[in-house]
Amino acid sequence: MSSQGLVSIITIFAAWCLCFPCHALAADDCPDQDVYQRAEQFHGHTCTGLIIGIRIGIAAKEALRAAGVSGSLKAQYYSKSCPVDGLQIAIGTTYSSKSIEVIDHQENRLILSDITGRHRVEAKLTEFADQQRLLSISLKKKIDKLQDDVEGKDRLEQGMDDINSWFRTAPDAEVVELRFL
Ligand SMILES: [Zn+2]
Repeated sequence: MSSQGLVSIITIFAAWCLCFPCHALAADDCPDQDVYQRAEQFHGHTCTGLIIGIRIGIAAKEALRAAGVSGSLKAQYYSKSCPVDGLQIAIGTTYSSKSIEVIDHQENRLILSDITGRHRVEAKLTEFADQQRLLSISLKKKIDKLQDDVEGKDRLEQGMDDINSWFRTAPDAEVVELRFL
């Protein structure tokens, strides 16, 4: 292939990436990059749990909006961990407004409802997504134990980045299970 041909392909690919920054199969079915940036600033670091909170929160909120629910929302989350910060950014619920309640049952499960509590949706990880979450926890433990210059550490970090990237860009149905209560 001529170098000109290669440049054209790269240009087309770059343009495609700009138009469809998310998963190829679901360009409009994953959150905007902006949400992740705001959440990372709020949380102080990037982690799988934060991204999980964003995905669960946005999927639940969109399900309620699609069902005609408008106005303020209130949330109950069943794990006192990083996803709670992702949820606060994704749903707009905050501790200070008492619109999010955290019950520490170590379950990544959200119940989101309107203020009356009449419309409620439960959101949790799919089985596959939960396996990815567990994998990220075990990778994190291994990475934290290793010195920076240990051989193979970068491979583990790449594995972690791949998991986070999947959580950011996979279609909702692959990440979140929704159920109206
Ligand atoms: Zn975190």
